[in-house]
Amino acid sequence: MEIITTTIGRCFLERSGRRTLAISVLPNGMVEVVAPLNAGIPEIWEKIAKRSGWIFRQRRHFLALQAERPERRYCTGATHRYLGRQYRLKVSVTDKPVVKMRGAYLHIGSRSASSMAVASLLSGWIRERAKEQFERRLGKWRTWCAKRGLPEPKLRLLDMPKRWGSTHTNGRMFLNPELVRAPSPCIDYVMMHEVCHIKHPRHDSGFYAELQKLCPTWKAIKRRLEMSEL
Ligand SMILES: [Zn+2]
Repeated sequence: MEIITTTIGRCFLERSGRRTLAISVLPNGMVEVVAPLNAGIPEIWEKIAKRSGWIFRQRRHFLALQAERPERRYCTGATHRYLGRQYRLKVSVTDKPVVKMRGAYLHIGSRSASSMAVASLLSGWIRERAKEQFERRLGKWRTWCAKRGLPEPKLRLLDMPKRWGSTHTNGRMFLNPELVRAPSPCIDYVMMHEVCHIKHPRHDSGFYAELQKLCPTWKAIKRRLEMSEL
């Protein structure tokens, strides 16, 4: 999986043995392209440009859907999750911005109590925690890869609503920082799924055999992740 920039913005590009090119729009508006192994980038650009009308219609559709869903709130009393546990926000106005976890509360000191200011502080905190949690958990997988002569995972955080991760066989691993809101076993499962992609780029039988070996209960954990309200 790689990321390419086209006339309609950034797209995920995946190669497969299929003969035709498939374009889909993810709920966050990002475009996912599955292209034949030998398709050149200019050819891919052209196909995307041809479908741009449809892509924009799809994006509008997802935007309309999003508007119907209740939004996350960023004020005192609102609840947010971290490692699967629920925390209640306590917002106060302070000179020095700060986010602190105290028991079941997330204390947020912000220069302004506006939702936007609080959301931005909280998202910065989520990113820091994500980096810390993911890096720590990746430690054992770095050793695992090294032992097998595979490239070690190199982590980068990337906001990808409706998608938890994406990994290339060269070890480049993108993880969605929002995943740190999920329960620990779910984070570990996503990580194992992504680690398997360093060895197996596609979701083929080899991939699933490897995942099954690393995480025999992955199906149940995947369901738990899909059902969690994060
Ligand atoms: Zn995958």
